Amino acid sequence: MRHRIAVVGGGPAGLTLARVLHRHDHPVTVLERDPAPDARPPGGALDMHEGMGQLALDKAGLLTEFQALSRPEGQAMRILDADGTVLRDWRPRPGDHANPEIDRGQLRDLLLGPLDVQWGRGVTEVVPGTPDGVLVRFADGRQETFDLVAGADGAWSRVRPAVSPATPRYTGVTFVETALDDIDTRHPGLARLVGDGSMAVYGVNRALVAQRNSGGHVKVYAQFRAPLDWHTNLNLADVEAVRSSLLALFDGWAAPLLDLLRHGTAFAHRPLHVLPVSHTWAHVPGVTLLGDAAHLMPPLGVGANLAMLEGAELAESVAAAPGPGELDEAVRAFEKQMWARAGKWAKITTAGLERLVSPDPAEAIAFFDQVQPS
Ligand SMILES: Cc1cc2nc3c(=O)[nH]c(=O)nc-3n(C[C@H](O)[C@H](O)[C@H](O)COP(=O)(O)OP(=O)(O)OC[C@H]3O[C@@H](n4cnc5c(N)ncnc54)[C@H](O)[C@@H]3O)c2cc1C
Repeated sequence: MRHRIAVVGGGPAGLTLARVLHRHDHPVTVLERDPAPDARPPGGALDMHEGMGQLALDKAGLLTEFQALSRPEGQAMRILDADGTVLRDWRPRPGDHANPEIDRGQLRDLLLGPLDVQWGRGVTEVVPGTPDGVLVRFADGRQETFDLVAGADGAWSRVRPAVSPATPRYTGVTFVETALDDIDTRHPGLARLVGDGSMAVYGVNRALVAQRNSGGHVKVYAQFRAPLDWHTNLNLADVEAVRSSLLALFDGWAAPLLDLLRHGTAFAHRPLHVLPVSHTWAHVPGVTLLGDAAHLMPPLGVGANLAMLEGAELAESVAAAPGPGELDEAVRAFEKQMWARAGKWAKITTAGLERLVSPDPAEAIAFFDQVQPS
């Protein structure tokens, strides 16, 4: 039986779900709010873990193509202190493919492949239990019904209210993201500082993290504890004003570290929000959530991996379900598995964020040594 499946959101979760369904010759409708794939800058590179993101790509039949695109050398990680002294310099061994990095845009295009995504179709509301199935309402006033609506629409999900009243809360930590282009030729000293992968510096309640993407593009994150309204006296669209306020925040740090902010081209404000650590809900037939919509957690390298693994698992279960009863059973089983695994990671990443952006920078180094023993 061919179920009418709607996937809301074309991020890592939704595209993996759709791509694995497509591999199983199961029809799927992907509804994405963005008007086009490159409507927004895609964000920093993602590391794909062997048993998670890479497993999902394998289930989508895309592992070989991923291996050709990804950068194992991007697993390198350096930690410096605020005066620029290198404290840790971890490099992957030859043949280490545990967590290679891939640009988000490359991953998106890889997953998109033959998928026929409906761009510019923002969902406003999902109503389960109508006589013809689950009703989806769109921003343009249209509506459609499906047998299963999978909410893969991220932190501020419009599908989530159909199953759960939970909303994200602010963690007290804000990231301000900037970027440097062509770093190897324009800023060779900074290129050496960042290395092949990522570089982090931890101070009191603040950190500076730089991450190499492909093509000499480096993302820089100023991370700090602050109230959500820390910028009330600052125009976030004023690049020079944001730069000055960040330079003041990191005053006293070594000049090359501050150069990462001085040469940044634009600044994006990213306050970190999370859903409750063990977010579950009473099962609602015909609607489910996956990825950040289900378990938004601090960005410590697992969110996209979980999202993709869940997408692949849900697709396999749905494709194997012969009738409506089996479909509902498959979704129930999927949710149980997702909740148990995501709850575990939400605890780890929540504790991790507390240690990485903390009053005691030594806590951050201890955390790094725990997760990346040399
Ligand atoms: C700074 C930072 C660094 C990170 N680094 C990593 C990392 O290294 N590794 C890792 O695994 N994770 C990382 N993450 C986490 C990762 O980005 C997320 O967990 C992941 O993107 C979640 O995927 P998703 O598909 O669930 O949601 P999203 O990526 O948020 O995608 C949701 C999609 O739904 C669309 N959408 C939203 N609302 C609607 C609507 N109403 N109707 C239709 N479409 C809609 C959006 O446009 C978007 O395309 C990081 C996060 C941050 C902030």
